[in-house]
Amino acid sequence: MDIIVCIKQVPDTTEVKINPETNTLVREGVPSIVNPFDENAIEAALQLKEQNGGTVTVITMGPPQAAEALKTAIAMGVDDAILISDRAFAGSDTWATSYTLSQAIKKIGKYDLILCGKQAIDGDTAQVGPGIGEWLGLPQVTFASKITFENGKLKVERMLEEVNEVVECPLPAVVTVVKQINEPRLPSLKGLMRAKKAEIKSFSAQFIESDLDNTGLKGSPTSVVKIFTPPVKGSSQMLSGEPEEMVNSLLGKLKEQKLI
Ligand SMILES: Cc1cc2nc3c(=O)[nH]c(=O)nc-3n(C[C@H](O)[C@H](O)[C@H](O)COP(=O)(O)OP(=O)(O)OC[C@H]3O[C@@H](n4cnc5c(N)ncnc54)[C@H](O)[C@@H]3O)c2cc1C
Repeated sequence: MDIIVCIKQVPDTTEVKINPETNTLVREGVPSIVNPFDENAIEAALQLKEQNGGTVTVITMGPPQAAEALKTAIAMGVDDAILISDRAFAGSDTWATSYTLSQAIKKIGKYDLILCGKQAIDGDTAQVGPGIGEWLGLPQVTFASKITFENGKLKVERMLEEVNEVVECPLPAVVTVVKQINEPRLPSLKGLMRAKKAEIKSFSAQFIESDLDNTGLKGSPTSVVKIFTPPVKGSSQMLSGEPEEMVNSLLGKLKEQKLI
């Protein structure tokens, strides 16, 4: 099974800062990591390869420094890594991002399964995986908490709010994973050495035959109009003292407000 995993480099913080003038993320001075859900996608791909054979290739669209995210994936044990990078991709929204990734996937050509994280912890839209499925005309399964390959079909358990759902789908397909699917492995020493020496391939807009009307800021039909922190509703209060005291105090306050 040949698997492509889409990974995104994100700021190592949930406290994402926004430039109020441009409404874009401030990335300067913030250390970067592989989007945590994408580490789960890499682990899922490596496990499927261990069970069924094949290859695992990771791709990321981003500036040159996103190559570091690819090196993390190499250290975890993937076979190949490709950076999709070009000034033309700057300012992409989810439409343009999923288009660009799907063009790169077409260029790679050989794939049975495309894995993504459920969502990126900075952009948080959860649109890119399904977007890739649409651009490539492939079946898509979101929120996967278990993936197996049986009798030529993919069997996926989906983690929904109240229940879990099991679906089957033919390959090729796009699947997005939740963090409950696995515990990502730590890079091995051998992997770290391989990552250090690895030369990362780069795909340009021209190489992937990107239609510039669907690329970058110009090809992005959405724009962020306003970003703001909503005001905190009501006031919060920290209780202190021994556990029994705090429980009694909490019960008293709840009774006072006729909540119990
Ligand atoms: C309207 C709008 C305007 C924006 N404008 C800008 C801007 O001007 N500048 C800017 O820096 N950002 C901008 N962004 C953010 C940027 O478009 C998103 O970061 C990007 O589209 C991915 O969306 P997301 O982060 O919500 O990913 P999600 O859809 O939440 O990610 C889901 C999964 O898709 C995959 N994935 C996502 N992005 C990538 C990637 N780049 N490479 C490989 N795999 C990926 C990963 O597997 C990830 O787990 C904008 C976003 C929006 C909605």
